[in-house]
Amino acid sequence: MSQDTLIAELSNICPAGVHQNVSLAQISRWRIGGIADVIVEPSSLDELCRLRSFIAQKGLSSIVIGDTSNLLFADEGLRAICIRMGRKMSSISISGDTVMAQAGIWVPHFARRLMQAGLTGAEHTCGIPGTLGGLICMNGGSQRKGIGSAVVSVTAVDPEGRVFTLDRDACLFGYRQSVFQGNGAVVAASKLLFNRAPKPESIRREMLSILRERSRKFPRKQPNCGSVFKSNPEMYADIGPPGAAIEKLGLKNYRIGDALISPCHANFFVNAGKASADDMLRLILYVRDTVCAATGYRMEPEIRYVTLGGQVISIHNAAPPGSFLKYPRYSKRLANGKS
Ligand SMILES: Cc1cc2nc3c(=O)[nH]c(=O)nc-3n(C[C@H](O)[C@H](O)[C@H](O)COP(=O)(O)OP(=O)(O)OC[C@H]3O[C@@H](n4cnc5c(N)ncnc54)[C@H](O)[C@@H]3O)c2cc1C
Repeated sequence: MSQDTLIAELSNICPAGVHQNVSLAQISRWRIGGIADVIVEPSSLDELCRLRSFIAQKGLSSIVIGDTSNLLFADEGLRAICIRMGRKMSSISISGDTVMAQAGIWVPHFARRLMQAGLTGAEHTCGIPGTLGGLICMNGGSQRKGIGSAVVSVTAVDPEGRVFTLDRDACLFGYRQSVFQGNGAVVAASKLLFNRAPKPESIRREMLSILRERSRKFPRKQPNCGSVFKSNPEMYADIGPPGAAIEKLGLKNYRIGDALISPCHANFFVNAGKASADDMLRLILYVRDTVCAATGYRMEPEIRYVTLGGQVISIHNAAPPGSFLKYPRYSKRLANGKS
C-alpha cells in the first residue's frame, strides 16, 4: 500500500486524528527521538476498534502511547503506526464512589476531578504527568502505591479490534507492572472505586503537600521521564532507593553527551540540550552496571525503549551493539565527588 493510500484510509477511520512525519524530539517528554511516520489519535472507542482492525487486516505494525512520560524513542524514529491515546478520549464521569474514565485523561486532571468530588485514594497520582491508560499499563503511583488497587475493571481493545473487559485480578497488577505490558491490548477506559473522604478539605491539603514535595525534589525545567530505575525492596533495605545508591557513588551531574544525571535527584536523568537516545541508553546502562559492580544489585529500569519498528522493550534489551566498550571509564575520584 502506498503511503498516500495508507494516510487516506487512516483519515477515513480517524478524521482529523492523523499526523504525518512528527518529530518525536519535539513531542516526547524527554525531547528525544527521530521522526514518527504517522501518529493516529482516535476520538472514540469505535474509531479505536476500526483502527486496530484495519492495522491487523493489513498486517501493519503498531504501538500505543499516552503522554510518552515513560518512554525513550529510538534516534532512527518510528516506522510503525503510532496510536496515541490522548485528549480526544479523556471523558470522566463520577457516580457515588465509582469513577468511569477514558484512557486519555491527563492524570493530574483525573486526580483533581476526584478531589472536587470529595473522593480520596488518588492523591498519590496528582503529580504524575501521564495519561490514565499509561498509568494503568505501568501500574504507576507514588508513596508505594499503584493505581491498580483502585481499579475495578479495564475495558481494552485487542490487536484485532475486539473490545473486552478485565477485572482487577485479571490485570495482574504488580509493582510497576500489569498484563497490558505484554498482551498487545490498548486500554480504552477503566472503572475505578474510591472512598468518600470524611473531610474533603484534607484531600486538597494532601495533594498540595505532595506537589510541593515533588517540586522541591524533582527537576522541573529540564526534560525527563521521572524515575529511571525501579526501587527494589531488598536493595532499599540494604542501601536505599536507586537515587541514593547512584548519589553515593558520586554520579550526580555525571553525563554522556547531553544525557545528564540530575543534580536535584540522582534517579532522574535529564536531557540537558540535544541528548540522543544513544546518549541516554549509554548513561542508563553505565549507571546500572556501575551500581551493580559496587553493590551487587542490578537495578531494573522503569523506562521502556521504543524501537524503530514500534516494539516497546526493556532497556536491558536495547543496548546499542558494543556500547559497553564505549562507556567512559568509571573513576574512583568521581565516586569521591572530586571529579
Ligand atoms: C516528572 C515525572 C514524574 C513522574 N513521576 C512518576 C511517579 O511518581 N510514579 C510513577 O509511577 N510514574 C511516574 N512517572 C512516569 C510516568 O509518568 C508514568 O509511568 C505514567 O503513568 C506513564 O503514562 P503515559 O501516558 O505518559 O504513558 P507512556 O509513557 O506514553 O507509555 C508508557 C507505557 O504504557 C503503554 N501505554 C500507554 N497508554 C496505553 C494505553 N492506553 N493502553 C495500553 N498501553 C498504554 C505504552 O505502550 C508504554 O508501554 C513520572 C514521569 C515524569 C516525567
